[in-house]
Amino acid sequence: MKYELFAIKYGRHERNASANFLGGDPHDGPMPLDYFVWLIRGEGREILVDTGFNVAVAAKRQRRITRPVEVGLADMGVAAGTVKDIVITHLHYDHVGNFDLFPAATFHLQDLEMQYATGRCMTVDAMRHAYEVEDVVGMVRRVYAGRVAFHHGDGEIAPGVTVHHVGGHTMGMQVVRVATRRGWVVLASDASHFYANMEQKRPFPIVYNVGDMVEGWRKARSLADSDAHVIPGHDPMVMERYPAPSKALEGLVVRLD
Ligand SMILES: [Zn+2]
Repeated sequence: MKYELFAIKYGRHERNASANFLGGDPHDGPMPLDYFVWLIRGEGREILVDTGFNVAVAAKRQRRITRPVEVGLADMGVAAGTVKDIVITHLHYDHVGNFDLFPAATFHLQDLEMQYATGRCMTVDAMRHAYEVEDVVGMVRRVYAGRVAFHHGDGEIAPGVTVHHVGGHTMGMQVVRVATRRGWVVLASDASHFYANMEQKRPFPIVYNVGDMVEGWRKARSLADSDAHVIPGHDPMVMERYPAPSKALEGLVVRLD
């Protein structure tokens, strides 16, 4: 099995480095954050990883959509309405939403993420801040519609595409391992927002369990063929380190395989 793997950028948030590290940053300068969804394609399959936020949520949270998710997918020749499998790495607002775009999808989620997002931690503002209640309720509705596949720990989406619970950032955070022509690539998503978080071993400040976050870096690396096979969830450097799949998609999509 060899899949193509793409990062599709849909948004941007200008911020300073102090917002990206637990305890801040002594050299506090600009350190913007990009937003992505990821596409796994091959073997007759199209698997999406995360679904991004829509215009309403972007406005509410003062984030900038650089290209709406449905447009980014159309750029790649993907008809959102026919996508059958979507991995949701965790239920934060920037990773789940846009449910209306994906009527045919089954959502792959960790047991612990649903537990966390609907449980006692959400009574505390600091813990629920990155969740949108309508997204969480939307996922509950899909549970009742038979549209959620729950995983506990490790799970297989298709041969050569597996999910792995790491926790840390949220209770049910999972990473995705993909067989590609350059070997095993791991989409870390928010197990490591930036290269700097995992490389410099400096946790991101939105965190459920710091010990699990630290262990998650190690696990993501152990699942991948090398350091360069681990893809952080929000680092603009991903757009620089990898090539666009075509001239027309420069600055919009990069190829990770
Ligand atoms: Zn995120």
